[in-house]
Amino acid sequence: GASLGWRSQWARGAGAAAMAAELEPLASWAPGAAAPPFQYSPENVAGADGALDPTEIAFPGCSCLSCAHPACSCLRHGDNYRGLCLGPTEDERGFARPVFECSALCRCGHSCPNRLVQRGLQFRLQVFQTARKGWGLRTLEFIAKGRFVCEYAGEVLGVNEARRRIQAQAPEDSNYIIAVREHLHSGQILETFIDPTYIGNVGRFLNHSCEPNLFMVPVRVDSMVPRLALFAATDISPGEELSYDYSGRFHNMPVTNRVPETSEEGNMPKKPCYCGARTCTSFLPCDSSLFSTPDTCPESSS
Ligand SMILES: [Zn+2]
Ligand SMILES: [Zn+2]
Ligand SMILES: [Zn+2]
Repeated sequence: GASLGWRSQWARGAGAAAMAAELEPLASWAPGAAAPPFQYSPENVAGADGALDPTEIAFPGCSCLSCAHPACSCLRHGDNYRGLCLGPTEDERGFARPVFECSALCRCGHSCPNRLVQRGLQFRLQVFQTARKGWGLRTLEFIAKGRFVCEYAGEVLGVNEARRRIQAQAPEDSNYIIAVREHLHSGQILETFIDPTYIGNVGRFLNHSCEPNLFMVPVRVDSMVPRLALFAATDISPGEELSYDYSGRFHNMPVTNRVPETSEEGNMPKKPCYCGARTCTSFLPCDSSLFSTPDTCPESSS
């Protein structure tokens, strides 16, 4: 929301112009790269189906002026960040502990250490054309392990619309829809579907890797709808392509668990993976739950 200028050489198409306007100098297009048509949004937006509103403020906010565990009500389960890096987010039992940042109703200011993902991009990133994978996203500067890199933002969809869109895809279409499953202590499973196909941020240009350098953590700021925040899993050198595991297997705590393999998965269209990692599984992961029709609707919109 800052009044940043933008460099005209980056403006190639509406998406690129909007991206430059929002994020310059932190995200850019490689020279000569032409933008595919999409609408740029640095944050999640309500999906066309209107199932969920990511701008709805769901949390009361804390009243402290200097936020720290355990006094701060936003940090009652522990500090989320150590300096600018994500701290351990597992509890004693090995469960992923949800990350709540301070929000619009907290008394603390913008410099509160519990406001990290909401500050947006901190590193200069660049969209570029890869040799075999279409678009990719790389960093132009060094990123230390644990730092927040970018969000995976797009339309927030209900399960029915997510499934409808997946099923409408042609085999050659790229799938941008990500399904994140959070297993709550109550036994409830909370599912979030983000689709940056038509409206999204730089996260949509990330490629899959079987040995990725980013991992995804759902982070809540104002809304119950999590922001899908990508953190550096390792130190990342300038010029390196950024990637994450679409299936959520890597490092990632049990937050983006896949459902167990079903026989149905064998019939699903598989796309080759060109990540080049030693442990490459040869195919891109796909979310079989979006192809099946469960008896009970798993959608949770609490
Ligand atoms: Zn606080
Ligand atoms: Zn705070
Ligand atoms: Zn707070």
